[in-house]
Amino acid sequence: MVLPQADGLSLNSIPSFVKEHHGSHKTYVPVSTLIEWTSSRYSSHVYVYDLATAVGFGKLTEKWALENKGIHVIPSQSRSGAGLSIAGRLSGGSSDDTSLKSILTTYTTPIGLSQMAHALSILPVPTTSGRLVLQVPNVSVVGEALTLSPSLGHISASLASLPESILVILSSTPQEALNIASLSYRISDYHVIHIFDHHSSTRENHHVVVPSENADDKVTFEDALKDEGYGFFDYAGDNDAETVVVLLNSPLAGAALKLATQFPGLGVVSVRVLKPWSADALLAILPKTVRHVHVLDEVLAETFGGSLYPEVFSSFWGAEERIQPDIHEHRVAPARLRQLLSHPSTLTELLAGFAPVQPKVSPTLDEALVKKLLFFSSPASHLSSLPLLITKTFTNSRTIETRHLIDFDAYSKPGGIAADRVTIAPHSDVHNPVALPILLPITDESLGYSDCLVILDQSLLKTHSVLEHVKAKKPVLILTSWTPEEILSNLPKQSLELLLSRSSRVYIVDPKAVASSLSGSNPSNALDLEVVVAYLGFSRLYFGSGASQTLLKTLAQNVFGDSVGGVALEELVSKSWDSLAEVPIPGEGDSLFTNASDSNELKGFEFNSITPPENAPAQSVQASVESWHIAAKHLLFPEAYAPIAQNPEKAEEYSQQAELRPEVPERTFLVTCTVNRRLTPLEYDRNVFHLEFDTSNTGLKYAIGEALGVHGWNDDEDVLDFCRWYGVDPNQIITLPLAEGGGKVMHSRTVFQALQQQIDIFGKPPKSFYAALAEHSTSREDRMALLFIAAPEGAGTFKKLSETETVTFADVLQRFKSARPDIAKLCELVGDIKPRHYSIASAQDAVGDRVDLLVVTVDWVLPSGSPRYGQCTRYLAGLKVGQKVTVSIKPSVMKLPPSHEQPIIMAGLGTGAAPFRAFMQYRAWLSAQGTPVGPLLYYFGSRHRSEEYLYGEEIEAYITDGVITHAGLAFSRDGKKKVYIQHKMREDAESLVKMLAKDRGVFYLCGPTWPVPDVFEALVGALVEYQGKTVEEAGEYLESLKEEERYVLEVY
Ligand SMILES: Cc1cc2nc3c(=O)[nH]c(=O)nc-3n(C[C@H](O)[C@H](O)[C@H](O)COP(=O)(O)OP(=O)(O)OC[C@H]3O[C@@H](n4cnc5c(N)ncnc54)[C@H](O)[C@@H]3O)c2cc1C
Repeated sequence: MVLPQADGLSLNSIPSFVKEHHGSHKTYVPVSTLIEWTSSRYSSHVYVYDLATAVGFGKLTEKWALENKGIHVIPSQSRSGAGLSIAGRLSGGSSDDTSLKSILTTYTTPIGLSQMAHALSILPVPTTSGRLVLQVPNVSVVGEALTLSPSLGHISASLASLPESILVILSSTPQEALNIASLSYRISDYHVIHIFDHHSSTRENHHVVVPSENADDKVTFEDALKDEGYGFFDYAGDNDAETVVVLLNSPLAGAALKLATQFPGLGVVSVRVLKPWSADALLAILPKTVRHVHVLDEVLAETFGGSLYPEVFSSFWGAEERIQPDIHEHRVAPARLRQLLSHPSTLTELLAGFAPVQPKVSPTLDEALVKKLLFFSSPASHLSSLPLLITKTFTNSRTIETRHLIDFDAYSKPGGIAADRVTIAPHSDVHNPVALPILLPITDESLGYSDCLVILDQSLLKTHSVLEHVKAKKPVLILTSWTPEEILSNLPKQSLELLLSRSSRVYIVDPKAVASSLSGSNPSNALDLEVVVAYLGFSRLYFGSGASQTLLKTLAQNVFGDSVGGVALEELVSKSWDSLAEVPIPGEGDSLFTNASDSNELKGFEFNSITPPENAPAQSVQASVESWHIAAKHLLFPEAYAPIAQNPEKAEEYSQQAELRPEVPERTFLVTCTVNRRLTPLEYDRNVFHLEFDTSNTGLKYAIGEALGVHGWNDDEDVLDFCRWYGVDPNQIITLPLAEGGGKVMHSRTVFQALQQQIDIFGKPPKSFYAALAEHSTSREDRMALLFIAAPEGAGTFKKLSETETVTFADVLQRFKSARPDIAKLCELVGDIKPRHYSIASAQDAVGDRVDLLVVTVDWVLPSGSPRYGQCTRYLAGLKVGQKVTVSIKPSVMKLPPSHEQPIIMAGLGTGAAPFRAFMQYRAWLSAQGTPVGPLLYYFGSRHRSEEYLYGEEIEAYITDGVITHAGLAFSRDGKKKVYIQHKMREDAESLVKMLAKDRGVFYLCGPTWPVPDVFEALVGALVEYQGKTVEEAGEYLESLKEEERYVLEVY
């Protein structure tokens, strides 16, 4: 069962998707996807800033740009002074973009906006063919817990110095965000900054009407706004209001507008267009009766002024026909905003404090008929698709409206937690929906706002305060393998008390057990069946006393059809019905209560990540430091623990020696080093060396051009050093899971072996490592620093650590001394050393049981001045003759053409010579067998002939023998003038063209990436000169050769 996900939409599917849904039709794709699509469509270039992608906005555009040449993305980094190149591009007059009638778009966040302040202040006047649109997803990290917030505090700082030519417009609901994003490309008279609510609205799956295609004719901003039915401001409340509250268009404003209608004498104004500020429009929308104005300004801290108060204040100057009201400023810092949004009663209290008269009935944001559902799950679990599935059940309904929003807490549990909010309501109130996090807050010490709570990960009951999120007397469904007794004995006392005090009804169902009882001989369907069982369990509770097996069957039939995985729906419904059980909650006198633990500090859910945590570890896989007898079991009964044969039918003469590198999923071979010879002089700064390995009796076979995967080891001394300062015994036995073993297959080794051969402890840590390590830190400073580095706001620090200081996992542990996971956990957090690939420099037909490599050591100097070495090249450089090495084979693009007589043209720098040596050996071998072979051109470049003419003697011999028909050798530093391979290729332009265009030759480039454009240009030049093509035609021709596998690049 595949659920349609926004991320899965390819560029090609979007236009038809939108075509299908525009006009009166509706879609359930998150609006952020549609904003990206609109922006990609109407912009000549999209500048995607890293801060935007860090909050989940821009990745799709980058993906689409790879699929479609018409979309141009410029990945950009956020830093002070950002955006100058955009300003330059728009000012450039004669740039390509101007001729393309360009609208440039930038994706950035409010913080990114402030970094662009200077660039924005020097933008040229907007024209129909030169404008900038900034799409700004508003969500920012606040507070010590690094929670994501919809605070508009950052905006104020960015707006102070904007020129008149920039329009600043805010949207808060999904539909409005889409309409305004689209409108931004229809107008001609302003650059646009569109700030939309990415904390929830644009990430929601919500019915929206897709706007029709933008016409080519440009209109003024005011006309476009009117066409859409929007004004500069929105007003709600009493038409004769005495008191008015003004705030920026945001989730808070949406909720305030809704409450305003319930207070006599009160009105609320939401500001949609912040710049150009229209005092006239504000005065026009306000009742003449207004005597008091309260401005709620969102700020970063209460000591900072906001952007709204000065505008509102100045609007009343000179407004003669009205009485001057008193104007009050209220600064709303993120902590206060959080309180207002997550405890709806505090917002009501705030408005009540302003209102001249108190209402008779307590104002509320709730609609009687809206059902609010909340789901907690592990993001990596397949059952986590349940909420979206429930939402999609009603997608086509004309009478029911569903909304869905997913938030992640990446830090409070390894692998993270997902919280899905779903609302189901009659089709009404579509235009101004209150943001889901306000309708259904997830907050500590919650009063319970959901009508049904579903817990998809039973372990959360022991660690997190999930049960408090359900309303009194409402059902809780737990998908669990525990019995009712086990559920109760796993609950701490505070949870039992809560359930009792709220008279909650707790139900359980075990989807796994039901699915496996039904999947019979076809266990591959079990996962699908589990989802259906969960769906049925939920539906039964949702419909309560109205539920019947017939109803559930009808409902499920619309979603799943008549059967799932070969099991009839009827049977599934009946089994699921029977297996749902109620958990009897004991009274306070019960022994369960007395025995329940009360020391357990349950954690709350914090929304701190928009995407699921990276590399969420699979649930069941856990490393452990084992007692000796468990380790002994692994050693004594290896067949029970060793990796499952990948392909038993392909049993080979030389089988996989799993016990050597059991954690490596691919087929490995243990080869023996027979030669390790340095090719460059000792005093030369680059160590390029030649390796030969004996492959006899290993079964290793390779084709010309393939690469060897080398599973290198870490340095012994470094490992022992690490063990010493980490305080772990290197001889301790450790049991580790196999990546491919589904968590069931483990293997044992000493800590020293694990760190030397498997665990990438001296490798480069990803962001997720910092987040995971924070969990293990006992000092608050360390924890905050680690979480900061992992958060979007820490992008700069992470970059510095990663790119400038090139820290390793071990370095991070050195820095954050309070974070000391035990060694088994650490191995799990760090992960395995990845094999490095090396082009094979020999032809097996020519050399027999041997494989050769050509390697250059990688090293660099740290800012501290100490040297650092590449993991694998250091290992290879230190290999002694006789030493065994674990290798695997990697297929490659470097394939010889089908006919031996087709010309081959090879160009390489440095170690790029490796596969070409194999090509030459093979052609020489073919010739020796009497097989006719075609021409072979060899271009090779390095700095000095005397030091880096790699395999020089062999090459000269091949030239003499005619295996190489022509060589273009470029030693860049030997002469006064620098000569590179592209210069040599230009000298041979005519014959290169003949070989490529007439004789179906194949061109190969291998080695470092930097000569790629020069070589391409040299070939384009040759085709222009000798084939009469234009530059574009020549470029397209070379592109077509790539398709034919006649222009082959292997660069690294
Ligand atoms: C198909 C293919 C064929 C190849 N053929 C050859 C060949 O024939 N000969 C050859 O010599 N190479 C070849 N390579 C390159 C080779 O695979 C390795 O990338 C190279 O040898 C470096 O590996 P290493 O383990 O020594 O360095 P690594 O440890 O992987 O380091 C590589 C780079 O990563 C960065 N880095 C490392 N650690 C950190 C850190 N902690 N923080 C931040 N940055 C870090 C550094 O910039 C460093 O330069 C080939 C690559 C491919 C993909």
